[in-house]
Amino acid sequence: MLSNIRVILVGTSHPGNIGSTARAMKTMGLSTLYLAEPRCEVDGQSIALAAGASDILKHLVKVDSLQEAIADCSLVIATSARSRTLDWPMLEPREAGQKLVTEGITGPVAIVFGRENHGLTNEELQQCTYHVAIPANPEYSSLNLAQAVQIICYETRVAHLAQMEAPQAVEEYPLSADLERFFVHLESTLSSTGFIIKNHPGQVMTKLRRMFSRARIESQEMNILRGILTSIDKVVGNKQK
Ligand code: SAH
Repeated sequence: MLSNIRVILVGTSHPGNIGSTARAMKTMGLSTLYLAEPRCEVDGQSIALAAGASDILKHLVKVDSLQEAIADCSLVIATSARSRTLDWPMLEPREAGQKLVTEGITGPVAIVFGRENHGLTNEELQQCTYHVAIPANPEYSSLNLAQAVQIICYETRVAHLAQMEAPQAVEEYPLSADLERFFVHLESTLSSTGFIIKNHPGQVMTKLRRMFSRARIESQEMNILRGILTSIDKVVGNKQK
């Protein structure tokens, strides 16, 4: 059940943190680890810190970007020590654990962690449905990477145990890659109607992304919206999808 929950570390630079992450995951029953554009190799220090969880290191998946790591996920939650810098839909760690567990029943879902020195970029944060900040000391809120992983994995475990007791129903949401295709289509149609001006796109797409994140559209709703865009494309003669 927990194997659909993917822990993604973006741009990690300390091998020890990768090992400690594996240990944090395994103690809570998670096993799927992705490294997106890592800036170090898994080494002896990683293996030492992973202790009994080196099997997770053996099976980890390396990819070139966050986008690649989340393409087949229907739910992507980003963690950030800074709360609300982007004014994105926020979850408490507890709610994040619950969503990961219930939506992880039907397919892959992801929880994303940033670089040790400067977290996730705004572009990366905008690829995620929700953001979660661990409510730490406001004067010193930046946890060690693997310790942040431990807290989220613990919440996931708590939610998993609750789900086993009283199962919750699950909705179907679009995969990240399908949502990206929808945004490309939306931008193309809005450009062809002249609503978005190519050289001056402004913040329209960012605002729309945020709006759709907040609305959390279901697969069927996204298909309706794509149908609406296609009907507009026909009228204005927009060829690009
Ligand atoms: N200076 C960076 C902190 C990076 S800490 C920044 O300002 O973003 C490395 C990673 O650990 C973060 O990207 C995040 O994934 C996680 N992390 C650390 N503290 C956290 C907190 N309070 N809440 C949520 N995630 C946290």
